[in-house]
Amino acid sequence: MADPQVKQIGKYKVEVIREKCISAASCVVIAPGVFDLDAEQIARVISQDGNDDETKLLAAQSCPTMAVIVTDTESGKQVWPL
Ligand code: SF4
Repeated sequence: MADPQVKQIGKYKVEVIREKCISAASCVVIAPGVFDLDAEQIARVISQDGNDDETKLLAAQSCPTMAVIVTDTESGKQVWPL
């Protein structure tokens, strides 16, 4: 069991497929602690812990080109896209 005294770090890992990103920035709007646009206006991950798992998943689901992959690091399974 997880120790409630220990700060829980989310279990979802996000990655951006640069070739798919069209700079829509909805991921950045929803999860600004996790995503940022680089100098080429392509999304990049600035921190895995900048927002919680639910927000990270919502951000990934908002991407019009499904450029954000979400993986559950506990199960090793891909959570998004399905
Ligand atoms: S929502 Fe998708 S297309 Fe838009 S910036 Fe993020 S990764 Fe790129």
